[in-house]
Amino acid sequence: MSRTAQSVWDNCLSFIKDNITPQAYKTWFEPIKAVKLTDVALNIQVPSKFFYEWLEEHYVKLLKVALNKELGENAKLVYVIKMENTYGNNQPFTEKIPSANRTSLKSQEVSAPLKNKNPELKNPFVIPGIRNLQIESQLNPSYNFDNFLEGDSNRLARSAGMAVANKPGGTSFNPLLIFGGVGLGKTHLAHAIGVHIKDQYPEKTVLYISAEKFTQQYIESVKKNNRNDFIHFYQVIDVLIVDDIQLLSGKAGTQDVFFHIFNHLHQNGKQVILTSDKAPVDMQDIEQRLLSRFKWGLSAELQHPGFETRISIIKHKLYQDGVEMPEEIVEFLANNIKTNIRELEGAIISLIAHSSFNKKEITLDLAKKIVDNYVKHTKREVSIDYIQKIVSDYFQMDVDTLQSKTRKRHIVQARQLAMFFAKKLTKASLASIGSQIGQRDHATVLHACKTVDNLASTDKQFRKYVEDLNKKLTV
Ligand code: ADP
Ligand code: MG
Repeated sequence: MSRTAQSVWDNCLSFIKDNITPQAYKTWFEPIKAVKLTDVALNIQVPSKFFYEWLEEHYVKLLKVALNKELGENAKLVYVIKMENTYGNNQPFTEKIPSANRTSLKSQEVSAPLKNKNPELKNPFVIPGIRNLQIESQLNPSYNFDNFLEGDSNRLARSAGMAVANKPGGTSFNPLLIFGGVGLGKTHLAHAIGVHIKDQYPEKTVLYISAEKFTQQYIESVKKNNRNDFIHFYQVIDVLIVDDIQLLSGKAGTQDVFFHIFNHLHQNGKQVILTSDKAPVDMQDIEQRLLSRFKWGLSAELQHPGFETRISIIKHKLYQDGVEMPEEIVEFLANNIKTNIRELEGAIISLIAHSSFNKKEITLDLAKKIVDNYVKHTKREVSIDYIQKIVSDYFQMDVDTLQSKTRKRHIVQARQLAMFFAKKLTKASLASIGSQIGQRDHATVLHACKTVDNLASTDKQFRKYVEDLNKKLTV
């Protein structure tokens, strides 16, 4: 009796079917085709590398038992992976399971074809579609394209966002990574894309999530022992938006799980949108393999808005709130809050609140007070490196000179000023300031702070240094 690949596989299947859930069978075994039988090796074709690795991870024992029953102790299984994804890569490649006493192929090298952008999934997890979930998008409809004003600073990111929103998964901007400083509109733009997609494609599953929440969910899932559900949940999403992915830095477990989710979605033509406060090159403690994925699509920067854009954002905001403000004040705000649109909005809101609480006109004076307060209170901490750079520039020396052991008076003063400002503007301890500014101890830093205080109150020239530097460092 001659046995065909099909008949051998059919027997395997009926054994497998008895041993797993119908859903798992349908998901993972029905798509497999038996293609060839040679000697003791059965070749089966699977739809993707992901598929293959998933089988390896979860069903290798079952497959082995089934195959041993059919073809004896030396039975071998050969996977033929047929790429049916978007990479124009349809050369199949094969990988053999060598002998019966192996339980896993994980240590085997898999020789993917050259130019294969297909992700190396080593550890995929999926629970076959047990649930049919209605997923709440978590989108904020008030962050949309209509109120995301366009300017030079955001044109690229905005139009890439539009393109993705019109054709999720269908552009080369996948993933779309939007990066830029705090308060420049990353979250707004990310929501706008999601909102637009939901509008145009109501049937698509869109999910917005902050990387922080993603991390919490993941940790929770590990605790509750339902990591697979967690992963499966994410793998059924059509458009995944993850905000502030820089927060994944240093979190190896979350990065790993995100890597697999990302690969799965990407491989299946699903759209991924990411935001970060840093460009990929500047992200620290993010695994290389993940960083390289981030760079596959488009990284678009949100830059600081120019004066015109700041003016139009203010006016738009006032218009929305039904408030009028003299042009002079609008310009004052635009001139004084430059690097953060959230602060700009915050100042407008405080201004409106103050004037209505106190039944006062909105005056330039009031605006000045509020900007002073507002900007001071929300100021981000400057770094000690930045302080050293500004101080050295001011005295026209380089940072190495500032840190050097020399006792030359003007260099000592520069160094003391750097220490003084580091103490004043950062939360760093005296010891840590000392170690960052030329390996000094805490007593030296303390001495420097006292000296600067003394000199500033007795020496006019020195006071000017302090004032100038203070301005440069706190603007
Ligand atoms: P990020 O996520 O980059 O820190 P957000 O998206 O939270 O910044 O934006 C901060 C605030 O600035 C939000 O209220 C947002 O609506 C507003 N904003 C940012 N960019 C624009 C823009 N181009 N037009 C209108 N509002 C903007
Ligand atoms: Mg944000």
